[in-house]
Amino acid sequence: MFPVEVASMEDSGSWERPGRFVAAEAGYEECEWVIAGAPLEATVSYRAGTRWGPARIREASHSLETYSPELDRDLDELAICDLGDVVLPLGNVGQSLARIEAALRRPVRDGKRFLVLGGEHLVTLAAVNAALARYPDLVVVQFDAHTDLRDEYLGEPYSHATVMRRVLDLVGPGRVWQLGVRSGLREEFALAREATRAFPDVTHGARVLVEELAGPLRGIPLYLTLDVDVLDPAFAPGTGTPEPGGIGFVELHQALLGLARAGARVVAADIVETAPPLDPSGRTEIVAAKLAREILLGFGRGEEV
Ligand code: MN
Ligand code: MN
Repeated sequence: MFPVEVASMEDSGSWERPGRFVAAEAGYEECEWVIAGAPLEATVSYRAGTRWGPARIREASHSLETYSPELDRDLDELAICDLGDVVLPLGNVGQSLARIEAALRRPVRDGKRFLVLGGEHLVTLAAVNAALARYPDLVVVQFDAHTDLRDEYLGEPYSHATVMRRVLDLVGPGRVWQLGVRSGLREEFALAREATRAFPDVTHGARVLVEELAGPLRGIPLYLTLDVDVLDPAFAPGTGTPEPGGIGFVELHQALLGLARAGARVVAADIVETAPPLDPSGRTEIVAAKLAREILLGFGRGEEV
């Protein structure tokens, strides 16, 4: 779908290895989860810094315990392989997306779950595209302050402000759930009413999703995309387009725990829009790292997906 075809990401120049996520010590063959960094920063509309996301989230992960008391699971009990960061040609969006998609094709083909550390939100388009190859009935669950449903932004069809519109084009109406959205154009909200399942209240949205997991969505593969700006800027100031009026960490955590306990079949996920240079306190990357830990623990099953 992107203008460039990338055949293989297995040559040595394709990956950069800045250090691993905590406890991600498994080799590729035996792992259940693959972590891949996608330090894309190409179309951000306001403040910059997402290219430092993956490295700084990994670094912050080492300040956390590997054990989650809420989930009663430890990262040491999972086989997690951190592949490093996809090397991206700065300034070339099409080539960057093609490389991210190519990088994720192999784990998808091999039945492994993947977690992408962004990078700006546009990386989700490449990642969803990779996942769709194996899971054509994929449902995408987006936690975000913004609709991201513009058809184009400044004439660009591929942007972090259009990413969910492009995802919607791929998966079709009714297959995108939007939780926590509080910012967008009137037209985007109109489209959301028509084509997505939109819940400004994250807790309510997660509850409805949990109910549907026991009914119409039972066994359906889910893709979780977590834009850190869904949180109030007080909790995650290190992001390019902060939007006041968001939830706190506890509400987001509870929503994820609820999905995990309901047995949601999350086959892939991403955490995007972390821009560490904008947060001298460093709390945003710690929040992102903890969310990553809870996703790995909450949706890992010790088996193929
Ligand atoms: Mn956002
Ligand atoms: Mn977004």
